[in-house]
Amino acid sequence: MSKAYIGFHVSLGKSIDSVFDTAQSMGCTTLQMFTRNPRGWKFKDLNESQVKSFREKREKSGFRFVVDHMPYLPNLASPVKSVMKKSREALVAEVERCERLGIDYLVVHLGSHMGKGIETGIRNVAEACNIALKRRGKTVILLENSAGQKNSVGSKFEELSRIIDKIRSRRVGVCLDTCHLLASGYDIRSENSVKETMKEFESKVGIERLLVLHMNDSKGDIGSNLDRHENLGKGKVGLEGFKAILRYNGIMDRPIILETPYRDMKTVKEDLETLRSILPKG
Ligand SMILES: [Zn+2]
Ligand SMILES: [Zn+2]
Repeated sequence: MSKAYIGFHVSLGKSIDSVFDTAQSMGCTTLQMFTRNPRGWKFKDLNESQVKSFREKREKSGFRFVVDHMPYLPNLASPVKSVMKKSREALVAEVERCERLGIDYLVVHLGSHMGKGIETGIRNVAEACNIALKRRGKTVILLENSAGQKNSVGSKFEELSRIIDKIRSRRVGVCLDTCHLLASGYDIRSENSVKETMKEFESKVGIERLLVLHMNDSKGDIGSNLDRHENLGKGKVGLEGFKAILRYNGIMDRPIILETPYRDMKTVKEDLETLRSILPKG
């Protein structure tokens, strides 16, 4: 149990290094964060003292993994030249910020092809990653599966796999979101369905590519294409599904990040208690 890497997406406090205090006060052993305001295009560059205190706090925390999430506005699949350009610049900048802060993983949403077709979407996302990974570094880009909203890229394992094939760097992996899995039509509600779904993931993508798990229950039912997270055990995935996922080969070696609805510390505690109650023993 003590070895489990469990964390929430924590919001930025007054300083960028405050995420470690927040995560530790919640009883977490890893965290996901934004390195800047996720709702705008503009941001300030990091200065040396921010980088230094972030690295020091991380060292003290003993966290083996730290995960960053891309801001919301970039659309890496966009066929619109101006949006494509801005989105690629945002990705390049975010990888750079992760490198400076020593962040291990950068989770990216794959965006929307806006009706231009999945081929265009796949090509654009892969090219964006190729540009961002040109420089040497350590940060790994993780493609997050989508809930399958209209024109979205990456809701199917085949699509994730085809993007990875086009990326000329080893620094790419996958972040699976359980809410998005169910919403996009993958059954994960029972032990057998988890096995089936993960077998398909293994054959199409490979379990070694799965580096972070977003563990969220889902308000929408299977195949609903709704991206609405729910607290653990209160949605359509259910505890039996989560139990089986946690027992799947190698999952417990990965950071498990909750992005469940936050009302107050009570919901945080409840989700953590629920998660602890279904963790594999030993
Ligand atoms: Zn997610
Ligand atoms: Zn989501």
